[in-house]
Amino acid sequence: MAILGLSTSVFAHDYKLEPKKINDNTWCFLGKLEAPTKNNGGFMSNHCYVNTGKNYVLIDAGATYELAKQAYEKMSEIKKLPVSTIILTHEHDDHWLGASFYKKEFNSKLIGSSLINKNYNENSKTRMFKMLSEDAIKNTSIIKVDEEIKEVKTLKVDEVEFQIIPIGRKAHSSDDLFVYVPSNKTLFASDVVMNGRITSNRDGSVIGQLKAVEMIEKMDYNNLIPGHGFDTSKNAINETKQYFTLLKQRVLEAVEEEVGAANITKHVKMEEFKDKALYEELNSRNVFDAYSELEFYEEE
Ligand SMILES: [Zn+2]
Repeated sequence: MAILGLSTSVFAHDYKLEPKKINDNTWCFLGKLEAPTKNNGGFMSNHCYVNTGKNYVLIDAGATYELAKQAYEKMSEIKKLPVSTIILTHEHDDHWLGASFYKKEFNSKLIGSSLINKNYNENSKTRMFKMLSEDAIKNTSIIKVDEEIKEVKTLKVDEVEFQIIPIGRKAHSSDDLFVYVPSNKTLFASDVVMNGRITSNRDGSVIGQLKAVEMIEKMDYNNLIPGHGFDTSKNAINETKQYFTLLKQRVLEAVEEEVGAANITKHVKMEEFKDKALYEELNSRNVFDAYSELEFYEEE
């Protein structure tokens, strides 16, 4: 006899995975504009599925085994295909721990940033392991990237071509990758682009972010998929561009005026962004780090 009210999980998470259709062959799961919490179960980053005909290729894999499994179940309702390949855009664990599900289920090939193999091993207790509930992180494990990307690579799966493009300098992290699908002009921008929330630039560079924005602006795309954020249109880059342009300009002005490190976060507030998610949590740190980076900056 079924026991009424007993769900498969006794832990209530407040997220719902629904794929957003981007174009004919691309769907994305767009995570909440939050830090990882027990409530959101790590559903706070974006990952996407591209249907290549007989397979799916993924760009990032979500934060946990459990989220990846739920995403795959949702995609199977649209079309049930194996996941042959996953491209991991950068080393932050909210973007790739979910690969452990696909590796187990499909032995998917993992292609990605070399820093994943360099900085983590099976015993690493990354952020997600610390911040999520035991239930949310169960079955999740750290697995190696099969192929590290060090230069531009063209990958063809079935009939769809993917260009994997390393940024080549520190931007959001020390090694971020763009993924471009020429056939439908879709650009997956990794965490170099976010919207609706403040970025975390703790591993990044203001100058590198701005160079990466320039790279994006030279590309021909119809859809731009941010690492976090719901805007996947051509305009998806606007907030990132404005944030780092103003951050650079204002911090350099403050350096000129000899505002010291101790006062920089009081002096540079980035008020245009105060209603964006995670402003309170991340903005001051970004300003402080920008000061450290730009204090002795000479224009290139
Ligand atoms: Zn991220």
